Amino acid sequence: MEVKLFINGEFKNSSDNNIKKSHDPSNGELVTTYHVPSLSDVDSAVKAAHEAFYSPTWKNMSCDQRADILQKISDKIKERSKEIVDVEIKDSGSTMRKAKADVHNTASFFKVMSKVARDLRLKTLDESASRPGFSINTREYAPIGVCAQIIPWNFPLVMAGWKIGPVLATGCTTVLKSAEETPASAGILAEIIRDAGVPAGVVNIITGGADVGRALLTHPLVRKVAFTGSTNVGKEILKNVAPNVLNATMELGGKSANIVLNDADLSIAVDGALYAFLYHSGQACDSGTRLLVQEEIYPQFMDLFLKRIKDVKPALTSDPNAGFGPVVSEKQLNTIMSYIEKTKAEEGKLLFGGSRVVVGEFKKGYFVEPTAFEITPKHTIFHEEIFGPVVGITKFKTIEEAISLSNYSKFGLAGAVWSQDMTKAHQIASSLEAGTVWINEYHLLNPGMPFGGFKESGIGREMGPEGIMSYLEVRHVWESDCNERSKKMWFDAIF
Ligand code: NAD
Repeated sequence: MEVKLFINGEFKNSSDNNIKKSHDPSNGELVTTYHVPSLSDVDSAVKAAHEAFYSPTWKNMSCDQRADILQKISDKIKERSKEIVDVEIKDSGSTMRKAKADVHNTASFFKVMSKVARDLRLKTLDESASRPGFSINTREYAPIGVCAQIIPWNFPLVMAGWKIGPVLATGCTTVLKSAEETPASAGILAEIIRDAGVPAGVVNIITGGADVGRALLTHPLVRKVAFTGSTNVGKEILKNVAPNVLNATMELGGKSANIVLNDADLSIAVDGALYAFLYHSGQACDSGTRLLVQEEIYPQFMDLFLKRIKDVKPALTSDPNAGFGPVVSEKQLNTIMSYIEKTKAEEGKLLFGGSRVVVGEFKKGYFVEPTAFEITPKHTIFHEEIFGPVVGITKFKTIEEAISLSNYSKFGLAGAVWSQDMTKAHQIASSLEAGTVWINEYHLLNPGMPFGGFKESGIGREMGPEGIMSYLEVRHVWESDCNERSKKMWFDAIF
């Protein structure tokens, strides 16, 4: 496979012939070559998005026509789902189950975006703000302009969908940069976008690292940045967008608390706690990596948890039944292993795992055992995001202590409560400084509801009406309903 730059509706080579390779994290085999854009390619992509934004074809396209295109994208993703699943497994180290869910969810997301576009009301009269004989006040919503969208490697297709869907629904245009670790599925999405009839230049897709990302988001024609990635990079991006006063949506890291109360139903809470931190080998931003368990139930919970964790077996992603695969790269593997070593050195109690898996075929890939430590807030991993299959378990006595431990974090992306008492569970949910809180559930998202973080987990939201609004500017149009000079006393202020 070869992933080229998708600029102005065409697939192009890197102008300085910078071609790199992406490998399968399960076995090290080559997956694809990809073209890294030069600064002049980035410039061409942004200029194409700028021209497309002001072109009559796109500007005058009705919401219904955009909705039809979004529906076509959804249909074409479904048509090509087998091929995308295959590529996503190899490129990102996803298991087949995860890759299938990702492709299904992305197709559904574009379908939801199609409905959003159809239902968009871009002009609304505000009767409560208007006053007969004085003013008629209307809100008009306008697409914000050219977007620079930067995504990470953990859910490559899903992240691209979450970014491009609202762009098309609202009438913006974009240059999307995929992560260098996982360029492949965005290449197929580019073909789908072209084939669905998206006008040239409306969506441009490139790959590359930090330099390409920086060049993209500091381009003077960009009006909005939508970034998903680590908090540290997010902080740098916020500095870089300040000079151009850009609208910025930031979806950043997390260290989410997963609270198990004494009255939890352990027949779901134990598996739920494992799913919360082990899904995609822990490489989900909302992973429940701080497991807080109430004192009374702790021995029983831990007994079941440590029996059940043995059933989560590392597997090659070529195995269609794999549930727990590799991590994305050697760099990520090393980061995870260094956090494990640090926790051991800090005398966190290792309860399970703690090693790289190197037996047989696994040594060709980047596999880490499901790993559980008993920790307290004095341990580094209570506070820092690892992005791997490692959980820190902490005992608590009271609900107040659980809330305070949960909120004792610079992050605030997600959290969960396991309890059979809904009054108590909702009280806790309402006290958590987190953008998504599940009760007796984990990881599930709803495209009609907002997703994003409190505190250093981000700014703004994706999905839901909040996500759509972040791609629109609002204009207040004041029409005078008072057209006699004698009644316009405010003019007299200057006479
Ligand atoms: P990362 O921050 O290293 O990179 C993310 C993207 O930013 C990549 O495309 C990368 O090339 C680009 N980039 C890196 N440095 C840049 C710079 N200085 N300027 C512009 N672009 C730059 O993150 P990652 O390792 O790819 O992904 C893992 C991180 O993403 C985790 O912290 C995870 O929590 C976060 N994440 C958050 C969400 C969310 O919705 N909140 C979702 C998925 C992942």
